[in-house]
Amino acid sequence: MKDSNCIFCKIANGEIPSRTLYEDEDFRVIMDINPASKGHAIILPKEHAANLYELSDEYASKIFKVAKKVGSAMVEVLGCDGLNVLQNNGEAAGQTVFHLHVHLIPRYKDDCVSIGWKPGEADDTFLDSFVTKVQNIL
Ligand code: 5GP
Ligand code: ZN
Repeated sequence: MKDSNCIFCKIANGEIPSRTLYEDEDFRVIMDINPASKGHAIILPKEHAANLYELSDEYASKIFKVAKKVGSAMVEVLGCDGLNVLQNNGEAAGQTVFHLHVHLIPRYKDDCVSIGWKPGEADDTFLDSFVTKVQNIL
């Protein structure tokens, strides 16, 4: 279903024109308006889901295939040194548009893109209960 207040619903379904890199019956891949690097694209499902938790299994199972197909072609054309496939859920994770999308961010040696964290230390006490609780839900 589409959300009439959602800009990515409008772009994905062609109601707002966009520079489209790829389209099929379920997805539109467009160029990011404020690219992190040359060639930065985003994959938009045509059905509204605010985030990964809301995404239907059908779309979830298809979206990585699109990432592979379009990402591989991008890397071939750009001759870039790497590619980040990134998807943010929630403000704390950097999400700014609340229609699920997957970033395809080409990477170049010595580029200015920063995606990273300081490696921490695993906490076995936490992991014992965390793993059990998650397994119980699954
Ligand atoms: P987020 O931070 O939610 O993971 O990513 C949102 C992305 O969408 C950002 O990289 C931003 O530049 C891009 N974006 C936001 N509005 C538009 C738009 O109207 N058109 C396009 N092409 N990209 C957009
Ligand atoms: Zn939407």
